[in-house]
Order: sequence, then structure tokens, then C-alpha cells
Amino acid sequence: SIPLSFFGGIGGASRQGILVKGSNYLEALAHLDQVVFDKTGTLTHGKFQVTQVVPAPHFSAEELLRIAAHVESQSNHPIAMSILKAYGQDVDPSKITAYEEIAGYGIRATLEEGEVLAGNHRFMVKESINMDDAKVLGTVVHLSVNGQYAGHLVIADEVKKDSAEAITQLKALGIRKTVMLTGDRRSVGEKVGELLGLDEIHTELLPGDKVMALEKLMEKSTADTPVAFVGDGINDAPVLARSHVGIAMGGLGSDAAIEAADVVIMSDEPLKVATAVKIARRTRRIVW
Ligand code: ADP
Ligand code: MG
Repeated sequence: SIPLSFFGGIGGASRQGILVKGSNYLEALAHLDQVVFDKTGTLTHGKFQVTQVVPAPHFSAEELLRIAAHVESQSNHPIAMSILKAYGQDVDPSKITAYEEIAGYGIRATLEEGEVLAGNHRFMVKESINMDDAKVLGTVVHLSVNGQYAGHLVIADEVKKDSAEAITQLKALGIRKTVMLTGDRRSVGEKVGELLGLDEIHTELLPGDKVMALEKLMEKSTADTPVAFVGDGINDAPVLARSHVGIAMGGLGSDAAIEAADVVIMSDEPLKVATAVKIARRTRRIVW
């Protein structure tokens, strides 16, 4: 039978906006050994802002932004939202005749101009697009039209104001290792990792690589040393499902993520992960 105080713990957590799907997850939260975070939308706001539009010689900035907005108009990725906002005009959906979103890379779509690719450096390399690898800082969306490099957009995201405190508190609670996994560029990941004092970062990961990275971190862990993964659910439902304690965060999360998660944090505050650990430990003391 389940001790009554476990229900107390679950109730206490829910009053803090933390939904725990079973007493076994409270037990795991109390014992956490490693906490692994997604970056975009989890440790950062995931609300990007276009800060630079840099067209290749045969394009204008207006043209490049219009093409980018059309290609991204079918996507609900935070990157896509920021590009549509920067464009600030309506997109005519009839102009998009073919569309494919490739997780961890970007988008391939057919517009009046021809076949357009929009995505990261890795996507351009994969598709053999010749580009000058400009040393820009920030997250970058490169574009090509009919196999020709067309330029790039630089977009900036911001670290959430309680992310550093979340890491500090988890360390104070004795969590052995804090890790970040991201599909974003190494330069961006390293900056966030340093800012927050994370123990380990893994960058430029495809969604499938994130599951493998998590499995590697879980290799030596047992029921006494569980591993939590914290994500916003965009592209990371499989990682949420694979971890000992999958923690989905924020209103952005998809139904699939809420389903895959063991714990749901209703707000978008990473600090609530530390709150969940504290509540779980308090509950455990009452039981024993
Ligand atoms: P994260 O791991 O940081 O949560 P994702 O796995 O969602 O990020 O995306 C990884 C990378 O793939 C992004 O940083 C971006 O370079 C590229 N990407 C993904 N979706 C898009 C898109 N809709 N448009 C352009 N680039 C994209
Ligand atoms: Mg994400």
C-alpha cells in the first residue's frame, strides 16, 4: 500500500504548480543523482529575436527575410516564430507548394523562387550548399535558393532569470551532476554552460543524439541514483520518456510531452525542479 504522506507530497507539489504522476516519481526525485536539461525553451526563454539579416550578394535583406518567413510559416519551432515576427506581414500559404521539416536541421520547402532550404550550418553541409562560414555569434539560420547560398539570419535567445539559481540550488541539494543537451551550435551552448555553471554540455545534437547522450549518462545509474531530464517538449518527448524522471516544463509543451512526462511543471521556471526535489525529500522524511 502507498503511505498516505505520499499523497500529501503530491498534493503539496501540485499547490506549487508541479504535477507528479505517481509516488514512485517522488521517491526518485528525492534521490536524484543527475539532472539533464534541454536548452532552448527550458534554460532559455526560447523566444528568439532576429538581430541581423545578412543576404548573399545577389539578394536584398527584404527579399531574404520574405523568403525565410514563407519557408518558416508552417513551423511552430520558436526560431520560426521569431522570423515571422521580424517579417511582420501576412504570409500567403498558397505560395508554399511543398514543405518538409527536418528535426535538428531545418526546413525544405518549395516557393515561387524554387526549392528553399532554411536551417543550420550542418543542414547546408549535408545538402552540399557552398557557403562562407562567417564567424557569427548567436544562433544562425542559413538559407539557400535552388542550391545557391542566399544568406543568413542571426537570432538571439535569452537565458531565463532563474536558470542560474536553479543550478545553484540543485548543487546545494547534493545533485552530483547538472548537464545540458542542445541541438544548437557549440559556441552558443558553451556560453550558456559557462553562464549557468553547468557541469557538462553536449551541443549540435540531433533529436536522436539526445536520447543516446542521455543513455550514456544513465549507463552507471541505478534506482538509487536516478537521472532526470527536463525539457519543454519541443523535439524532446523521446528523451523525456527515456529518463528515470521526465520533467516537462511550461505552457509551450505539446500534449505528447505532457503524456511522455512523469512530472509536469506548469510554469516555465527551471527553479521549480529544485522545489520538486525539496518537496520530495520532505515527504520522504515524513514516511520514514
Ligand atoms: P534545442 O536542442 O536547442 O532545443 P532543436 O533540437 O529544436 O534545439 O533544434 C536544433 C537546431 O536545429 C536549431 O538550433 C536550429 O539550428 C535547427 N532548426 C530546428 N528547427 C528549425 C527551423 N524551423 N528553422 C531553422 N532551423 C531550425
Ligand atoms: Mg527544445
